[in-house]
Amino acid sequence: MTIKACGAHAADKPLEILDITRRAPGAHDVQIDIAYCGVCHSDLHQVRSEWAGTRYPCVPGHEIVGRVAAVGARVTAFKPGDLVGVGCLVDSCGQCEECGDGLENYCDNWVGTYNSPTPDAPGHTLGGYSQAIVVNERFVLRIRHPAQHLAAVAPLLCAGITTYSPLRHWRVGPGQKVGVVGIGGLGHMGIKLAHAMGAHVVAFTTSESKRAAATALGADEVVVSCNAGEMTAHVKSFDFILNTVAAPHDLDAFLALLKRDATMTLVGAPSSPHPSPNVFGLIMKRRALAGSLIGGIPETQEMLDFCAEHGIVADIELIRAGQINDAYERMLKGDVKYRFVIDIASLAG
Ligand code: NAP
Ligand code: ZN
Repeated sequence: MTIKACGAHAADKPLEILDITRRAPGAHDVQIDIAYCGVCHSDLHQVRSEWAGTRYPCVPGHEIVGRVAAVGARVTAFKPGDLVGVGCLVDSCGQCEECGDGLENYCDNWVGTYNSPTPDAPGHTLGGYSQAIVVNERFVLRIRHPAQHLAAVAPLLCAGITTYSPLRHWRVGPGQKVGVVGIGGLGHMGIKLAHAMGAHVVAFTTSESKRAAATALGADEVVVSCNAGEMTAHVKSFDFILNTVAAPHDLDAFLALLKRDATMTLVGAPSSPHPSPNVFGLIMKRRALAGSLIGGIPETQEMLDFCAEHGIVADIELIRAGQINDAYERMLKGDVKYRFVIDIASLAG
């Protein structure tokens, strides 16, 4: 099947409309007509080869929602018309301890929704900035939100699970003071989710203009992190901090805000390293600095169901495919409240 997609031919080239092909669904495949696809900062890192190793043409997009168009002969869990999502993974080895634990995201051989080797043309996976995708049923998620919220559900498939997973792993809940650093696509979901889990949430931003909006998202307090006085007021007071910032920055300033034995988890993946943390900041209070990668398939379904139950969706700005290059520039300036989502119908022309 030949379809329209939006992608780039090289790291220094803008994204443009391309024709790509999708395989015919195999026995265990689900073919999905994509309605919306969120725009993650990882798409920008990858399409510009900021992490190195990008394969071209690169069609990004791993916050995919749409309806099932067809299913393979052995698929029983989905039928045409179902509302479904696909996140950052489309396959994994299925054999290792991580896969057995439902943590396919930590499988050494997980297949990313884009830029991973595949037998399909052109030899690497192509993502959701496209009209359709064919995915093994094990990596298809069910969406239980009302259909009219579908566009705003799309960002849950990456921004939602990437923040939900560490919040759950580090057992965030009532009675805890939790920081979320960076109010972008991931951070705004982190605020909503930590609030829904019952924590006292403090949002950290470099943007004075996001102060009021962060409160509306569910933050109990907002700190403009370049203001030293505001930071000092929170020293040694946090049970957990989730850091979503997409650029290198001073981690020590946030580590100093952790209580004894508390953890700061990094999910932001800048293309160049952070200045090293001062080890004394960790040693003296037995603090921990950790990382976390998206989430496994069972937890992604759990997150979608949690969000449907709590009425949680992303705050989005819907764009046409032709606006994607401008959207990337605005994302780099932190000028999006809080996630761009592409209306895939606009690919038709
Ligand atoms: P985003 O929408 O661009 O948000 C990042 C936010 O970080 C910005 O809105 C801004 O918030 C803050 N920020 C940006 N540059 C900064 C700087 N120089 N100093 C301080 N703060 C800065 O990006 P996103 O889509 O949320 O993604 C964030 C990062 O997570 C990216 O690196 C992405 O690749 C990565 N990511 C990781 C995973 C994972 O599994 N670990 C999954 C998805 C994405 P303020 O304006 O509030 O300061
Ligand atoms: Zn992402």
